[in-house]
Amino acid sequence: MTQEIGHFIGGRKVAGTSGRFGDVYNPSTGELSGKVALASKAEVEGAIANAQEAFPAWAAQSPITRARVMFRFKTLLEENLDDLARMLSNEHGKVFEDAKGSVIRGLEVVEFACGIPHLLKGEFSEGVSTGIDMYSMRQPLGVVAGITPFNFPAMVPMWMFAIAIACGNTFVLKPSEKDPSLPLRLAELMLEAGLPEGVLNVVNGDKEAVDTLLTDPRIQAVSFVGSTPIAKYIYATAAAHGKRCQAMAGAKNHMIIMPDADMDKAVDALIGAGYGSAGERCMAISVAVPVGEETANTLIEKLKPRVEALKVGPSLDPDSDFGPLVTAEHRKKVHDYVDLGVAEGAELVVDGRDFTLQGYENGFYFGGCLFDKVTPEMRIYKEEIFGPVLSVVRTNNFEEALRLPSDHEYGNGVAIFTRDGDSAREFASRVQVGMVGINVPIPVPLAFHTFGGWKNSAFGDTNQHGPEGVRFYTKIKTVTSRWPDGIRSGAEFIMPTHK
Ligand code: NAD
Repeated sequence: MTQEIGHFIGGRKVAGTSGRFGDVYNPSTGELSGKVALASKAEVEGAIANAQEAFPAWAAQSPITRARVMFRFKTLLEENLDDLARMLSNEHGKVFEDAKGSVIRGLEVVEFACGIPHLLKGEFSEGVSTGIDMYSMRQPLGVVAGITPFNFPAMVPMWMFAIAIACGNTFVLKPSEKDPSLPLRLAELMLEAGLPEGVLNVVNGDKEAVDTLLTDPRIQAVSFVGSTPIAKYIYATAAAHGKRCQAMAGAKNHMIIMPDADMDKAVDALIGAGYGSAGERCMAISVAVPVGEETANTLIEKLKPRVEALKVGPSLDPDSDFGPLVTAEHRKKVHDYVDLGVAEGAELVVDGRDFTLQGYENGFYFGGCLFDKVTPEMRIYKEEIFGPVLSVVRTNNFEEALRLPSDHEYGNGVAIFTRDGDSAREFASRVQVGMVGINVPIPVPLAFHTFGGWKNSAFGDTNQHGPEGVRFYTKIKTVTSRWPDGIRSGAEFIMPTHK
């Protein structure tokens, strides 16, 4: 039975009124599981009005009061973890344990936000001049918006709203229309945790909803995570409307395998990071770069049987290594890329294009694919595929390997596998990529550090979560104070200096 999925505005679930809907599927079965309401401009404006009304009272709460809501929310996330992960698996298609892990990564940002009283502490300088003290404080911006992608419907919204709300802002979230149920559930849990009505609103929708958020003068800042073309559009439009903006985007993450690497560990890492979540991760490894002919031959020899043995299956089957792709449309896109790679002359060592699963013939499954002898000129190397497809690009030496991720238009994540400290250190220092792993294939920074790529993988100069998140969601005010006893009589016409 298909359910109708609406919005969460002013502290309650509301049905959509635009008359426009999007389809939501269970990718494991291919069945239509829901119809998501696509908000009209007026509905989004209603959500913004609710957030605007809730702002003064929420901003006036003490940081510790706001932190207590986060503590309760964290407990609710833990208590509901299995249900949340199941909901995520059903709409996204990632396997249950992976779904659980992604909720936990969001929960860790909530834990970080519990420390908001400490994180908001300003600075104080006593006696900067005779009788004058100077201090700074961080204040919330007002109503802020988050626009999020399909691949992390719990983690990415929590990167944003946990910190924004703890800082004293109110929030309008526009999640992906492909898996909209989980963000609505998170909003319910926030309310249960004691968040006042209107502080967190969720509007489902498409471009119409996004454009309303980008142009409405009441929205002070926009945080976006999604594909590069949309990120560029979001950044440019938000900036043109005077908003603060951070827009995280697409990726093509390389893993360098040096001749001295532990090859079995490198292969394990490539299998998990290349094929986990069916490659639908912005930090997935999609390019393996062996250094030297012998390294490349050994790598392919060891990888091939492992890719062939991958178990693709329903997201809730504990035996599945990875589940289906998110939609039939996305599966076609990945399929087309593999066809393109063959046409471009890459060697398709493992071909998962024809994979079907008995009993689940309508699911959006796609088998693991492995390409060898991919070159930097090929489109399958240049473009993000976002599927279970790993490309091997052979190189002759360290410098050549270092140049590949550095010269690539994307710069999200990168990894090097080696036993040599000097190569690792040199690589980490020189590579032109935002997040680097040394013998760690998916170097996603923890909540108290900060997440963000370089080049066409991120627009704006402030990263997600960590101290950068607090900076993004607050504005700094600096106060210079002198009390009456210290005020000399007579006007001063010259620029004050620290006499
Ligand atoms: P997407 O860009 O299609 O959608 C992201 C959001 O933008 C959704 O909420 C969607 O409704 C909205 N949107 C889509 N088209 C729009 C348009 N024309 N105008 C206005 N809004 C629009 O991305 P996706 O397919 O949901 O997610 C996958 C992409 O996200 C991949 O490229 C992946 O690399 C990237 N991603 C990046 C990070 C990161 O931190 N760098 C993290 C996760 C995902």
